[in-house]
Amino acid sequence: MADKTRITIVGGGVGGYPAAIRAARMGAEVTLIEKDALGGTCLNWGCIPTKALLQSAGVIRTMKESDIFGVKCKGYEVDFGAVMARKNTVVAQLTRGVGALLKAKKVKVIQGTATFVDAKTLQIRETGEKVQGDAVLIASGSVPGRIPIEGIDGPDVMDSNQVLAMKALPKSVVVIGGGVIGVEFAQFLVAMGTEVTILEMLPGLVPGVDREIASLLQKQMSAAGVKVVTGAAVKGIVHRKTENVVTYTVGDKTETASAEKVILTVGRKPDFSLLDVDRVGIRHERGAIVVNEFMETSVPGIWAAGDVVGGIMLAHLASAEGECAVRNILGHREAMNYRAVPSCIYTMPEVASVGLTEEKAKERGEIQVGRFPLRGNGKALVLNETEGLVKVISDRKHGEVLGVHIIGPHATDMIAEAVLGMTMEMTAEDLANAIHPHPTVSEAIMEAAMVIAGGAIHMP
Ligand SMILES: Cc1cc2nc3c(=O)[nH]c(=O)nc-3n(C[C@H](O)[C@H](O)[C@H](O)COP(=O)(O)OP(=O)(O)OC[C@H]3O[C@@H](n4cnc5c(N)ncnc54)[C@H](O)[C@@H]3O)c2cc1C
Repeated sequence: MADKTRITIVGGGVGGYPAAIRAARMGAEVTLIEKDALGGTCLNWGCIPTKALLQSAGVIRTMKESDIFGVKCKGYEVDFGAVMARKNTVVAQLTRGVGALLKAKKVKVIQGTATFVDAKTLQIRETGEKVQGDAVLIASGSVPGRIPIEGIDGPDVMDSNQVLAMKALPKSVVVIGGGVIGVEFAQFLVAMGTEVTILEMLPGLVPGVDREIASLLQKQMSAAGVKVVTGAAVKGIVHRKTENVVTYTVGDKTETASAEKVILTVGRKPDFSLLDVDRVGIRHERGAIVVNEFMETSVPGIWAAGDVVGGIMLAHLASAEGECAVRNILGHREAMNYRAVPSCIYTMPEVASVGLTEEKAKERGEIQVGRFPLRGNGKALVLNETEGLVKVISDRKHGEVLGVHIIGPHATDMIAEAVLGMTMEMTAEDLANAIHPHPTVSEAIMEAAMVIAGGAIHMP
């Protein structure tokens, strides 16, 4: 055995590359195998490009609202090519940065597709090169999910990767699936001037989000011009010369929606299709690799992290799991803690949450809920973004915070305070007593906690 632990990581996404850097910092000899681009989905086809596009949508909103701030703005024009080019520049800068970081830490990066030969050996399909090590971390990620309906393979049906590679702005789109990815695309496109219809099978948009917050988001998406149809079960897509007709049912009624393009955002599925995991006997269930709380697979010496293990598929969780895995490979015994995993939606307004929704918390026992509407927050008024709400949910007996849910400006940054607090097992009183800077929207979190801990100041 070599002096240093030799770790082979499959996948250069956020599940893989931070783990590679962490392992190298801890003294391991690391080889990272990536078949496509460093940064994986998050940097190339997910978090970063979508947010770069939404930033362009935000500029449009500022232009449209400029009158309110006393600035007269005479119209605007969208140069879609330039919008996409800026997105590409942001992505390129970040992926270059990842390459440089890996190089600085002496991580060997191999461009190619890895397949298991045995539990300690991977082979690069394109070159036949073999990579051997003491441990393997699988961080091969996920791919867009599909639904088995007629017309799904039509020429105008796009998955999220294809949307991010569009050359021209469509006049109209039907978005199938009103989850996080669907609503973010809808928000971007409607701001650009595209006519957008979302078809969501469940009774409300963004399933899994606290219902009160989700329904506020739904109202604001509709106000922004998105046509939202919920309870809509899509049956098929017919491709016509100038449009695509999507047939769906709502209850026992059959309806149609037509558009130039159809966007399919019906979730993602873990992907280990090229690895031949069955050759080494790695257990997988319902399409995801099975791991224990230490991120170990069923085969000793093989670990897995990120989207490939299923569950919550988020970039920051993939990173945390990858780092947890390598710490365990290198001799620590550290279980993954899923108690305070934030999730964010970058719509206008933003939505962010951590912990239990009100519905789930109620199932667990007696709770208290503190609500503070952003109408009562000075900074929100300054920003002209008062249509929002902060909700703090605590356990009635001990006061421990079980969940925080925010819809409003800067929600995705503000949630970090609740994540830290929940990680430290804070009570609503702790949150209410922490001195918050003024004027900030974050004061609304303190006020919502105050509702539980003795009453808010800026609310009757
Ligand atoms: C449109 C969109 C928007 C999103 N927005 C957000 C967001 O705002 N915030 C957030 O937290 N999450 C977001 N996500 C989710 C986030 O991108 C994923 O959770 C995250 O990228 C998962 O990281 P990963 O490393 O597990 O997988 P991936 O990023 O998918 O990386 C896996 C890598 O492994 C490579 N690979 C696979 N098989 C092999 C093989 N056999 N050999 C070599 N290489 C291989 C792939 O090419 C890929 O680069 C978004 C996703 C999408 C699609």
